[in-house]
Amino acid sequence: MQKSLLALLSGCMIAMGGVTVSAQELYVPRNVKKAIEKGTRTLTGKPGPNYWQNKGVYDIQVKVTPETRIVSGQETIQYTNNSPDTLKMIAIRFVNNLHKPIAPRSHITSPDFLDRGLEITEMSIDNQSYIINSERMGTVGAVRLKSPIMPHQTASLKINWNYPLSKQSGREGQIDSTTFYVAYSYPRVSVYDDYNGWDMLDHSDRQEFYNDFNDYNLAVSVPKNYVVWATGDLLNPDEVLQPEIAARLKRSYTSDEVIHIADFQEMMDNKVTRQNDWNTWKFKADHITDICFGTSKNYVWDGASVIVDPKTGRRASVQAAFNDTAKDFHHNVAWAQHSLHYFSTQWPGVPYPFSKMTSFQGYADMEYPMMVNDGTTPELKFSQMVQDHEIAHTYFPFYMGINETRYAYMDEGWATIFEYLIGQEEFGKAHADSVYKMFRVAGYIKDPSAEEDQPIISMSTQVSGAGYGHNSYGKASLSYLALKDLLGDQLFKKALHYYMDTWNGKHPIPWDFFGAMNAGSGKNLNWFFQNWFFTNNYIDIKLASVQKGSGTYTLTIDNPGGFAIPFDIIVTYQDGTTSTRHQTPITWKENQAQQVIKITTKKNISKIVLDGNLFMDYTPEDNVWISN
Ligand SMILES: [Zn+2]
Repeated sequence: MQKSLLALLSGCMIAMGGVTVSAQELYVPRNVKKAIEKGTRTLTGKPGPNYWQNKGVYDIQVKVTPETRIVSGQETIQYTNNSPDTLKMIAIRFVNNLHKPIAPRSHITSPDFLDRGLEITEMSIDNQSYIINSERMGTVGAVRLKSPIMPHQTASLKINWNYPLSKQSGREGQIDSTTFYVAYSYPRVSVYDDYNGWDMLDHSDRQEFYNDFNDYNLAVSVPKNYVVWATGDLLNPDEVLQPEIAARLKRSYTSDEVIHIADFQEMMDNKVTRQNDWNTWKFKADHITDICFGTSKNYVWDGASVIVDPKTGRRASVQAAFNDTAKDFHHNVAWAQHSLHYFSTQWPGVPYPFSKMTSFQGYADMEYPMMVNDGTTPELKFSQMVQDHEIAHTYFPFYMGINETRYAYMDEGWATIFEYLIGQEEFGKAHADSVYKMFRVAGYIKDPSAEEDQPIISMSTQVSGAGYGHNSYGKASLSYLALKDLLGDQLFKKALHYYMDTWNGKHPIPWDFFGAMNAGSGKNLNWFFQNWFFTNNYIDIKLASVQKGSGTYTLTIDNPGGFAIPFDIIVTYQDGTTSTRHQTPITWKENQAQQVIKITTKKNISKIVLDGNLFMDYTPEDNVWISN
């Protein structure tokens, strides 16, 4: 790679001036450089002056027929091209085509997961009709336009479709014979963005999603006695619920106490929904990346609410829909009240941005805007942790518009650090530390395969298996924890809020994050981002030597793994006392391979241990020195 002469010169000048600013440049891919040239992106942490993103206004009517598991629907999409480009094609995305036998897939699957996929029976764009060969469509398909969509023009799409819900569910599908989780249920316009054009990456079931911020009206028709829980506000409770149930639901919107909106006997006695043959449940949500729903004839329904913005007193509704036999789910509303309060006021400390959160029992352990779909477990602490994790995703990806397909660490890393931080508050630090180490670090650091050590910046679609998992969750969250340690909680939160305030409702990419954290903290952290995101580093430090002088011990600490980690130097003296000195990652700024530390003491040291705690060492045995 050729560094520009100017950058080299300015690096020298900064070094000569004695200012502790690293002029280290981060690798910027060609497409991002081009976006910077066009003024849509910058390296300052802010969107460029020419930043744009496209938007759809969706009006969706879907019908679920439980006996056949067929979802059929019709929609109009008002799609606005805010780009300066003339769109000669449009990409239609339907990720549930993952169920088609011909779909590329990252995992082995079972026959019950497979089905025929989407059939588009009618489609028109600006009143010109299109014949779609549904059989040949994967999870995304390109449609060549008869008339292009000009810059700043709005096109009107009309689509009629149907598809079967799979018998075996993944992130969506059948839960039991009268319960369904219906996500990604409508064909949508794929993202067209400033740095990559149309998003044509197939959904393989490993990486997650990338969606525009759209406005939605959703009407769901289901047979009587089926309740519908969805993203967005329920607009017509009195039309679909019997009066007593509607009254309880409305009471839950202002109640701190958990209200049983519908219990099992009421569901069985047909006392919950209106007794029309079909009820149509209407929901609305604006400026949001997706809308989905679950429906059941046998689930019970709890609800309450919680203040998520102490300044304004704004409340969010918290609901849960589950099988009465699931012991953990009876706690879910109370747990979610706590999660929303914690995330709103502690970490990330941004008021919960939506009006509602519904926890639906399924098999996915997956987040959706305003909803989570989690499995039941016999371990209450584990169930709560999973729900915390999925609710934490409200901020990343949904509040922040992350491209999870390409940059999974930009959302999973944050959900993982928030899961850890709320876990400290809920279960104590020792429990949270041990769970984090067990689930998020041990598997990565104890496996010496090279697959574990791909740079985090690697595009998420280009890594697989353990390489994908550790980059997205463990290593990414460790990098955020290391940065928190380096900056201290106050400055880290200030920088994080700068990033979140600047980019919420937009589509930040890693270089926007790096720039925003630099700008928000007022520090040039590029050396740190270079170290954590752009290298094959791992966690391994070593106490190479300890030299005793008069009243001093000189420690030489090597860093064969390379990551700029925080660690404690735990000293045990011959008199049995101990002392701990904490080194933040700043200690690696000047020399990432080695550092020398002097301990001044009048006492004799018997033992020294370098302890990274969460930053588990690949070879902990060489982190110890014992006096002989
Ligand atoms: Zn996650």
